[in-house]
Amino acid sequence: MRPSGAALHLDLFERPAGCVRMLEGSGPATLWAPRGPALGVYVHVPFCVKRCGYCSFNTALYREAAVPRYLAALAREIDLAAGAPWAAAVPISTIFFGGGTPSLLTPPQLVSVLEHLRARLAVAPDAEITVECNPESVSPERLTGYRAAGVTRISLGVQSLDDRVLTSLDRAHSAAGARAAFETARRAGFDNVSTDLIYGLPGLDLATWETTVRGLLDWGPDHLSAYGLTLDEGSRWHATGMTGLPAEDTVTEQYRVLARRAAETGFEHYEISNYARPGRRSAHNQIYWRAEEYLALGPGACGFLGDTRYGNVKATERYCAMLEAGTLPIATHETLTARQRLAERLLLGLRLSEGVPDAWLAERVALEPGRLPALLDSWRERSLLVSGGGRSHLTETGFLLSDALFVELL
Ligand code: SF4
Repeated sequence: MRPSGAALHLDLFERPAGCVRMLEGSGPATLWAPRGPALGVYVHVPFCVKRCGYCSFNTALYREAAVPRYLAALAREIDLAAGAPWAAAVPISTIFFGGGTPSLLTPPQLVSVLEHLRARLAVAPDAEITVECNPESVSPERLTGYRAAGVTRISLGVQSLDDRVLTSLDRAHSAAGARAAFETARRAGFDNVSTDLIYGLPGLDLATWETTVRGLLDWGPDHLSAYGLTLDEGSRWHATGMTGLPAEDTVTEQYRVLARRAAETGFEHYEISNYARPGRRSAHNQIYWRAEEYLALGPGACGFLGDTRYGNVKATERYCAMLEAGTLPIATHETLTARQRLAERLLLGLRLSEGVPDAWLAERVALEPGRLPALLDSWRERSLLVSGGGRSHLTETGFLLSDALFVELL
């Protein structure tokens, strides 16, 4: 059995490639007003030096000459967002530069974006500011520059500590290069470094995975994200097919090994695919899982404001052209019904170890009182779901089986 809910991509809420279920239409003249007291900001930097075989994210081939046009368009998008009547009054609590490869930006380029965000939006002085970095694009100068610019957190795409696996993934770094990048981040002053791994990979046996997990935890990262491979549409592997994938019970065992080792090392398993030392949970990603609101900037970025989920145009060329014409680059948007909102809050909240208020479950049960109480009882009886203190949460095994519950709660 493949660990459910633990897929490589959090498309709908984290990644620009996943703005599904939205209606094609012309973009609005101004952004929707948020409901909540604060916002996160997701900034998509699409550039990559090459495309990894498993990748379905919205990427563009890196050309140094293309970056200034992208940055000018991004600045224009920030201006348009700042023109919304509510913008000055809503604090920005987190900023996440995702990609693509954000660490292809030089420190002056990153500074220009951050300065513009701070000048035009109400960025909180203590905002968590994360930059995703690929190991091969990390240098002491680059990370020292990022730190000086106010970046508080580095998310390092390690993926594997086996060079054979890294080569099969088309990654441009080696295991030694990833370790060096981690140490560079520490020396640059980052006391909050997250690392990413992928399991369920072709040719990845349990022993190699366990060695990778142990090796990575020995570095002493503050946060660990580990996603099970999925062959998503848009990836080369999806198009061409992929052989050599491990059996489902091997993938399940890889998930369990990771959870066990992380717990032994003092990590909290706070979300299906995420582990953190106490106090080091990702503030930005918790915005997604708590179904809170965030602004989307950059090609293909997705946002959630008020009751509306929206996505920007994906092609970098078109994104730039729309902003040069003074238009918000929104391609798709969908206003959620009350029922959709409830389902999203439940499905996202149950990904977290903190779970959801029982009142939310009761609201959902009231819509199907004949079917859902027995289903939830059976999950509790099998110790997959635990209720107490007014909240319900999935257990470690419940996480593993969560897709089956999520389908029922939709
Ligand atoms: S570096 Fe990341 S975003 Fe770029 S192609 Fe590889 S997986 Fe995709």
